[in-house]
Amino acid sequence: FQDLAGRHVTVAGLGVSGVPAARALAGLGAHVTVVNSTDGERERAQAAELEPLGVSVRLGDGDTLPEGTELIVTSPGWKPTSPLFAAAEKAGVEVWGDVELAWRLRGPGSAPWLAVTGTNGKTTTVQMLASILKAAGLRTAAVGNIGVPLVDVVLGEGRAEGESYDVLAVELSSYQLHWAPSVRAHSAAVLNLAPDHLDWHGSMAEYAAAKGRIYEGNTVACVYNVADPLTEDLVRAADVDEGCRAIGFTLGTPGPSQLGVVEGILVDRAFVENRQQQAQELAEVSDVAPQSGKAAPHNIANALAAAALARAFGVPAAAVRDGLRAFHPDAHRIQHIADVGGISYIDDSKATNTHAAEASLAAYEHIVWIAGGLAKGATFDDLVRTSAARLRGVVLIGADRALIREALARHAPDVPVVDLDRTDTGAMSEAVRQATRLAEPGDTVLLAPACASMDMFVNYNKRGDAFADAVGELTAEDH
Ligand code: ADP
Repeated sequence: FQDLAGRHVTVAGLGVSGVPAARALAGLGAHVTVVNSTDGERERAQAAELEPLGVSVRLGDGDTLPEGTELIVTSPGWKPTSPLFAAAEKAGVEVWGDVELAWRLRGPGSAPWLAVTGTNGKTTTVQMLASILKAAGLRTAAVGNIGVPLVDVVLGEGRAEGESYDVLAVELSSYQLHWAPSVRAHSAAVLNLAPDHLDWHGSMAEYAAAKGRIYEGNTVACVYNVADPLTEDLVRAADVDEGCRAIGFTLGTPGPSQLGVVEGILVDRAFVENRQQQAQELAEVSDVAPQSGKAAPHNIANALAAAALARAFGVPAAAVRDGLRAFHPDAHRIQHIADVGGISYIDDSKATNTHAAEASLAAYEHIVWIAGGLAKGATFDDLVRTSAARLRGVVLIGADRALIREALARHAPDVPVVDLDRTDTGAMSEAVRQATRLAEPGDTVLLAPACASMDMFVNYNKRGDAFADAVGELTAEDH
């Protein structure tokens, strides 16, 4: 199938992966039909872009398998239970995701993949990894789920003729992994596993199995989180190349074949350069993104995972240090906005689930927490229970705030709560003002909503921007 010229390929879904996939397939000479269940303005614009390339686009019907289909390439978000796949199975038609397509289209001698998945921290970790690899003088990029379609990367889109990569830092989502059966990474990491997207995968077991796919066929290292035994179970269950090693990372003292932290130093006991030594010092904890202040513990864990993958690729210790120093976190991920009147304002709008919010709440002592939005079926008892002692106060926003309010009443009855019953555009300003009133000098006002943003904002970026604007509007009166 690698030669797709003349084949009838159906692409399921327009959007961030469907459009590049359709474009790439048309470029390879396949007969491409895109099916998409919705038929809106955006979809019509995308169709108008693809049709001149010879792609036919069917809007408003994502369920019917086009006649003559020999292969489906699906967008990762497409649910496995969709009628289209039932029809495909009946007709004996294979289904590939966008990542599988990219993998199959790689040329000979193409760059190996260092792959990262996990419930949280994927983007941060692949960016740290790319930064480390670059510090080692390697030609690389952070690609995949991070927003750079792998199909474009392997086909050399946007690069000068002859320019190539030595290695790729690849972010993979559980959806992408589900549809990528033959991908084989050089080395891969599962950062953590907490319930998320269970409506899509059907169960925690299937979600974990999709994540575990990332280890299948690894050749050098399977990197797991010592604090999250489920990730180690996935390594043990994987069928890997002979000689491939299980490498742990921990915020504590590392055992053999692990990376960890000893007295403020990131230490590698898995890939030691000098056989006389038991451990290799990599960097100081303070080298992790130094310009954004003291690193939160979960970002040190991400740094260790990135370091493990880089070391598996043979990167020297000094490059780990230089790469971590040069790393700048993306906006809305524990982003320090300002200090006003002795109160520190932090935007972690990207904390869209309880696992992420728990990590950011663990990073501060006295917190006024701004939370709420769309809960996506989550429960908040564990999060509130583990964080209660650090809460100075809470301001709730968004559609599902009652769920958090009830959990607070159960596990933190003494913490003052402001329940903002509004979803208009001014709501975030009000939330920040109320939070400021509850805070004392030395406290942190933390936006870590533990929820998706779409009830009030276009996306988490806009939610974080609204928070930063609101902090900018604070006046002396608010203190
Ligand atoms: P992803 O790409 O997996 O969504 P990001 O790097 O964008 O991950 O981080 C998303 C959010 O998850 C951050 O805002 C932070 O709150 C939280 N987070 C980051 N790394 C971790 C981690 N290792 N463990 C738990 N939470 C994390």
